[in-house]
Parts: sequence; structure tokens; C-alpha cells
Amino acid sequence: MSILIIAEHQQGLLANSVLHLVTAARLLGDDLHVLLLGDQLTEVATQVSAIHGVTKVRLAEHRTLATGLLDGVDKQVASWCDGYSHCVMAATTMGKDLLPRVAARLGVEMISDITAIEGHDTFLRPIYAGNAIAKVASSAPIKVMTVRTSAFAAAGAQTATVAIERLPVAEVHCRTRLIERQAVQSTRPDLAAARVVVSGGRALGSKAQFALIEALADKLGGAVGASRAAVDAGYVTNDLQVGQTGKVVAPDLYIAVGISGAIQHLAGMKESKVIVAINKDSDAPIFQVADYGLVGDLFSVLPALTAKL
Ligand code: FAD
Repeated sequence: MSILIIAEHQQGLLANSVLHLVTAARLLGDDLHVLLLGDQLTEVATQVSAIHGVTKVRLAEHRTLATGLLDGVDKQVASWCDGYSHCVMAATTMGKDLLPRVAARLGVEMISDITAIEGHDTFLRPIYAGNAIAKVASSAPIKVMTVRTSAFAAAGAQTATVAIERLPVAEVHCRTRLIERQAVQSTRPDLAAARVVVSGGRALGSKAQFALIEALADKLGGAVGASRAAVDAGYVTNDLQVGQTGKVVAPDLYIAVGISGAIQHLAGMKESKVIVAINKDSDAPIFQVADYGLVGDLFSVLPALTAKL
């Protein structure tokens, strides 16, 4: 089995998701090639070579790929898939954008959002907002799939020398133009990759009072998350939303504060290793998935907990 991993990167930095993708890919085979698309990729290629298990780095460098937009590149990517048993990418915005078009070019089905690998052709993926798990078996000659990276551990480092291949790249005719890049500046860890996440719900009542969540997150070195109700109420920006229509997280510790536990929220956090819920209603559904539950008023519990820590 030879597996082609398409890696994301930004401004010379490899995305953390690639470490998790490599772990998933190693369950499929030993020959792991990582494809990088962009321009001036030498620095990123070095970062990829250092990931344990990677056997080759393939560079598709062209000035028309410098923006990171992947529109128009699917035909070339499909041609680079030749000879591989699997082509995998993280189930991120980019993965969900590029891979279905690559699958269509190859004439095979798209296998989306897998969370477990049972064999080279059998995978598990959540459906109905995570309420059921589908087992998917594919007979396609190449399996094209996106991977929910939070379901796989990060790969370690290696010092082995890895071959680097430069691919001939034709000019890409992109129908999308990059006008501006607006990155959220935060000193906190990235929500999707954080080991600790503290999330607040509607009960926080205001943007100012949401600072109680931020204080606890900072004390624990964690990321801040939120329910959709908190986002809709304007307490935080929507990039912090956890759930079916937000981010899917699986940290070591997830603390849900003033969140009822609607299925759409659970779909984004119930795979967390340890779940702590703080809610004043002892019947709140969040307690059904919580490892530790504290029934109490968050406005007295949170300051006391943060002070104690
Ligand atoms: P509520 O349901 O209002 O719960 C507030 C909780 O706070 C209650 O349990 C209450 O007991 C508790 N509380 C109140 N005061 C205090 C206090 N002083 N101290 C302690 N506890 C207190 N939701 C998401 O989160 N993420 C999603 O991605 C998402 N996607 C959706 C997609 C669709 C298609 C739909 C229809 C809905 C989606 N939702 C999503 C919304 C979801 O159904 C819920 O409405 C939402 O999660 C509720 O947010 P909440 O728990 O903060 O608010």
C-alpha cells in the first residue's frame, strides 16, 4: 500500500493536522508520501521530513499556487494520485473542498470524515451528527478520504533521510481570487488542537461575563470554546463554536459551563477524554456524557474554581 497524504500549511508552517494524518495513514500502510502544494516549499518540506513514518515528500511548487487557494488544481492532483492505494487529507475546509473534486476526477466515491480504520478498505465515520457510526467498505481502486484528525494521535519525530521529489506543475487557472487574509490573533492554543478546552454557553449572559470562561481557560493553559447559543448572542466570535456546525474537538479535558448539552453541541465534543460539566440544572443532558458533574451556579462556582487553581 502506498498512501498519498495531502498536507496543509500556511506561511511556511506545516499544519498540526498533518501529524495526526500520518498516524492514521500508518494504519493503512508503510509507504507514506506527503504532497505539498504551494510555492517556495523547501522549509515546509523539511518539517514534513521530520515526521515519523514519512517516506517521501512530493513538492508541487508554482507561483500560481502561492495563495493557498486550491480551486483549479484538482485535475493535476488526480494525476499525481496514480499508483496509490489511498489519498488522504484532513477533514478541514480545504480537505472538504479539494478531495471530492479529486475523487470525481478519478471516478471513485468520496469517503468523508473517517474516525477509525478497520482495514485497508473499511472505515468508520459518524453520521446523523454523531448519533450513529457508519461502517463503510469501499472497493474503489483508490480510496479518497478525509480524516477527522482529532480521532488520531499525533505522530512523533524521525531523523531518517526522506526523498524529496519535485513534480512538474502546469499553471493553475484559479477562478477564485485571494483579496485579504484575516487571521484571528490569539495567545491561547488553537481550539481544534488544544489539550484543554473550556466552553461557555448561553448562561454566561453577556460578552463581559464570558470573561469568567477566559480566566479559567487561561489558568489551565487551554482554549476557549462556546455553544452556538453563546455565539448567536454575540458573546464570542463564531470561530469558537463547538458542535455539529462548529468545530469538532477531542481534548484531554473539556469543561462545559452553562451549556445544556443539546445533541448538536455533543456532536462536537463528546469524544473528549474527560468531560466536566457545570450547570445549575441537575437534569441537564450534558450530565449524561460528563465524567464529572458539578450542580451549581456558574457565577459563584467559576470564580471559586479559578481562584483555587
Ligand atoms: P441553553 O440550551 O439555553 O442552555 C443553557 C444552560 O445553562 C441550561 O442547561 C441551564 O440550566 C444552564 N444555566 C443557566 N443559568 C446557569 C447558571 N447561572 N449557572 C450554571 N448553569 C446555568 N449548538 C452548538 O452548541 N453547536 C453547534 O454546532 C450547533 N449546531 C446546530 C445545528 C442545527 C442545525 C441546529 C438546529 C442547532 C444547532 N445548535 C448547535 C444549537 C443547539 O440545538 C442548542 O440550541 C445550543 O447548543 C444551546 O446552547 P446552550 O447550551 O448554551 O444554551
